[in-house]
Amino acid sequence: MFDLDVPVLVVGGGGCGLAASIFLSDVGVRHLLVERRESTSALPRAHYLNQRTMEIFRQHGVADDVYTLGAPLANMSEVVWRTSLAGDGPLDARDLYRIDAFGGRGTAGPYATDSACPSTNLPQHRLEPLLRRHAQDRAPGSVRFNHVMEDFTQDENHVTARVTDRSTGETGTVRARYLLAADGGRGIGRSLGVPMDGDAGGFTIISVHFSADLSRWWSGDSALMTNFVSPDGGLISAYAMVAAGPNWGLACEEWALHFNLPPGATVDLGPDAVAARVRELLKLPDLSLRIHHVSEYLPEAVVARAFRVGRVFLAGDAAHRQPPATGLGLNSAIQDAHNIAWKLAAVLDGKADDALLDSYEAERLPTARRNVDWAMSCFLNHGVLHASLGAMPGMPPEARAASFRELLSDTPMGQTRRARAREVFATQRSEYQAHDIEIGFAYPAGAIVPDGSAAPPRDPMGVTYHPVARPGHRLPHAWLTWDGERVGTHDLVGSRGGFALLTGPMADDWAIAAKRAAEVHGVPLAVVTIDPSDGGWAAVSGIGDGGAVLVRPDNHVAWRSPQASDRAADELDAVFRRILGKEPTMSHGEHERVVREFLTGLGPTPAAVRSTLDRFLTDDCVWENPGTPVCRGKRQILELMPPDFARLEVEFQHVATAGDTVLVERVESMLRADGPPIALNLKVMAAFELRDGRISAWRDYFDITTLITERPEG
Ligand SMILES: Cc1cc2nc3c(=O)[nH]c(=O)nc-3n(C[C@H](O)[C@H](O)[C@H](O)COP(=O)(O)OP(=O)(O)OC[C@H]3O[C@@H](n4cnc5c(N)ncnc54)[C@H](O)[C@@H]3O)c2cc1C
Repeated sequence: MFDLDVPVLVVGGGGCGLAASIFLSDVGVRHLLVERRESTSALPRAHYLNQRTMEIFRQHGVADDVYTLGAPLANMSEVVWRTSLAGDGPLDARDLYRIDAFGGRGTAGPYATDSACPSTNLPQHRLEPLLRRHAQDRAPGSVRFNHVMEDFTQDENHVTARVTDRSTGETGTVRARYLLAADGGRGIGRSLGVPMDGDAGGFTIISVHFSADLSRWWSGDSALMTNFVSPDGGLISAYAMVAAGPNWGLACEEWALHFNLPPGATVDLGPDAVAARVRELLKLPDLSLRIHHVSEYLPEAVVARAFRVGRVFLAGDAAHRQPPATGLGLNSAIQDAHNIAWKLAAVLDGKADDALLDSYEAERLPTARRNVDWAMSCFLNHGVLHASLGAMPGMPPEARAASFRELLSDTPMGQTRRARAREVFATQRSEYQAHDIEIGFAYPAGAIVPDGSAAPPRDPMGVTYHPVARPGHRLPHAWLTWDGERVGTHDLVGSRGGFALLTGPMADDWAIAAKRAAEVHGVPLAVVTIDPSDGGWAAVSGIGDGGAVLVRPDNHVAWRSPQASDRAADELDAVFRRILGKEPTMSHGEHERVVREFLTGLGPTPAAVRSTLDRFLTDDCVWENPGTPVCRGKRQILELMPPDFARLEVEFQHVATAGDTVLVERVESMLRADGPPIALNLKVMAAFELRDGRISAWRDYFDITTLITERPEG
């Protein structure tokens, strides 16, 4: 029987757990990873690795190996829709639409400008062994497959888990300061009673992994995936195929074919029946193929209500599960691991207070919610595409075929319908060109010190990204010359859990103050003076010659000052205290209380609104609200507030606190009784910065919301 003591126990050796192990090793955290399976996943499920993931892999020395095995951009720069792969009927093998994707072809410009790392494609069954090797090399003996965590308890100081080595049957105890639940969900979160908010999709996705030579029929050397919409209808009238390597483009040997089964429908999933089904769908009755695996899964769009419970942190699929559209599952999982690793290191080293770990939820939960909503909306939009082809659910097969015949005909109506469908299909750029979703996200609250600047606009289609070095955002990329070498801004941070201060050429005071503050707080810090004429830094940094940007170990901006300050030492000391969670001037419960009182105080009478604003806002409070100019100061905000709503109800969905920041999701409904009646329901994400128990900054985010306004009849 073994009895181990480690600072961190990672449960789960999927993409999330393995990435966490690599990052924890790099930042110097001893840990144990246990994975119940004997080996990594055999299934080619997740495959698309976006630029943010590749930046993280580059930071941790994993990217080169991933690029060596992954698809080059040239072989993943298009997504295609067709009627079938092959066949010789008039409606067979017809192209319906092609979209440039993932930073290739027509999308290359912004992707190449905005990151040092191209996206790539490497299916899970090839990526996980690579991650496992990197994890094991860094922490020999600490990455244990064939080990299952049976159960665990936690108290004020520790988590104690019972772990069984399945090869020997021996069960032992692992005592850890923290537990990272990367177990894919349904286990640890459930045992802690954490509800998952959201829904299941209500249908099953069947995935078939097979080998076949499709080079004569595949949609071209640059196509990564093809979506099929069949004119024939039938039980499986829409399906998708993804190249799974190990060679790419027309040389690809392995494939993943995914199709949906409606509720209640069943199909024979035996290997012979599945092989016959694949041949039938591809219209290649004599195709020689080898089935590797058939798997089933129920897509969900769910987010855990809490990402932290005591000493346990939920990450990856344990924290959020989404449909595959936009490929945000594994990518988000890797960002979760990256976000928590440096924080655990700082806390375990005694450099930060445990409060820093609360920022994990404050930062990652809203990001997860956004990603889950996005994935679901992109997934559902495929139905809109099908409708634009005239392929409506429940349509009789003859009508469907007739509709496709007209659509693909050389008649004026065929041309019109194809032109109309092209416009509709272009909306799927929100899935395949989701550049802003992938790298433009920002943490509205957490281990950051807001600078009161307005957030850049977000493209409702998730495509156009606005680089900005605003606190909470991912550090924008620019190529620089440093020590005679060409480096990206992200390369300045390193992989060991250090911070970087990027300054203008006249910012000596910041540099001296930062070095001093870093020494006092015991955190590694690199100071880098950047010539503003170098690369595109001046355009994205938002600082003048005397300004500075403080970057966290995970390459998110922690703080920024546009210019010099004669209080640099004090300011940076306070910044580090806040980021390291050392300065919650109020308890988290008090934070929450202030914001709740404030929000419920915004009604029901104009007088109550005014008195609440007067009582809670500081004189230099900043209020940002999408679509309206930023308001600075209590007076301006008071002037802008609607003076006359008769009822305002606020229902809190979720409140998270970190340092001096409170993050709230709320649903409001307002009714104005005098004048024309207006009922307004809105779901709002809001972040509040608190100072001395009052509100110093307040930002509402409507972009993830439903806004319904209506004027009742009469
Ligand atoms: C068809 C499909 C396509 C997808 N495409 C993409 C894509 O292109 N890009 C993308 O980013 N995402 C994609 N995803 C999502 C992605 O697969 C998942 O989000 C990701 O794999 C989750 O990784 P994870 O490590 O969090 O969880 P998992 O991979 O589920 O790993 C959890 C691990 O924990 C282990 N475990 C559980 N309980 C215990 C225990 N008690 N003790 C020890 N071990 C335990 C399990 O055995 C498992 O190995 C896709 C998903 C599907 C189904």
